[in-house]
Amino acid sequence: MRRKVVAGNWKMNMKHAEGLSLAQAVDNFLLGNDLPGVDVILCPPYIHLAHIAGSLRAPNISTGAQNCSDHDAGAYTGEISAGMIKSTGAEYVIIGHSERRSYFNENDELLNTKIKIALKNELRVIFCCGEVLSEREKGKHFEIVKSQIEKALSGISREDLADIIIAYEPVWAIGTGVTASSGQAQEMHSYIRSIIYKLFGKEEAEKALILYGGSCKPSNSAELFSMEDVDGGLIGGASLNEDDFCKIIDSFPGK
Ligand code: PEP
Repeated sequence: MRRKVVAGNWKMNMKHAEGLSLAQAVDNFLLGNDLPGVDVILCPPYIHLAHIAGSLRAPNISTGAQNCSDHDAGAYTGEISAGMIKSTGAEYVIIGHSERRSYFNENDELLNTKIKIALKNELRVIFCCGEVLSEREKGKHFEIVKSQIEKALSGISREDLADIIIAYEPVWAIGTGVTASSGQAQEMHSYIRSIIYKLFGKEEAEKALILYGGSCKPSNSAELFSMEDVDGGLIGGASLNEDDFCKIIDSFPGK
């Protein structure tokens, strides 16, 4: 049985006190509700990480950053290294979010470097992949996702793969209110698992955690999470509202 994961990507939202209060609410929810197979990851802006990481008490909650530098240290004004993220108590970093790819021109080669630097600094990675609408309309979505994963995981060992969660995030569903149907999500997640099988073998494919992201909310999370190859979600907008986020955390079947 794979563990279930719900990660909240706060993006560039939440002032310090608001962020702390949201994190406390989620932590309290987890302390008060027995969800033994579910891990929750909060990904606030960098500047809140240390305070939030130090404040959490539930055994199944942790923190992650939304990005990291592709350099270890040095004269890179404004950048944040994987080692700095680790030193806040964070355990994860999101790499390859479509907003980083499109607004900050992050390409697959750079993302591969970032994954390696994150792993070297003992961070776990949430690697995002997914096609844009025109690629899906042309029937190229499988090819695009395969290429993103193969390039991102180039040179990654079988051992390191255990520290990588894949998030399938169709770009047309992110922040748009349009969600992939559970059938579309399952189809792609099962395909992603087959890519992992070819690259790393059966055992790794069965163990790999694959999250869905894209307008996931309380009204659709239970159906999405009931799919065989959907191991949870990467949640944007709905992670900013404590009730919605906790309902999503609580929506795995048979919990
Ligand atoms: C995201 O940005 O990772 C995301 C899934 O956003 P939203 O849930 O708002 O679509």
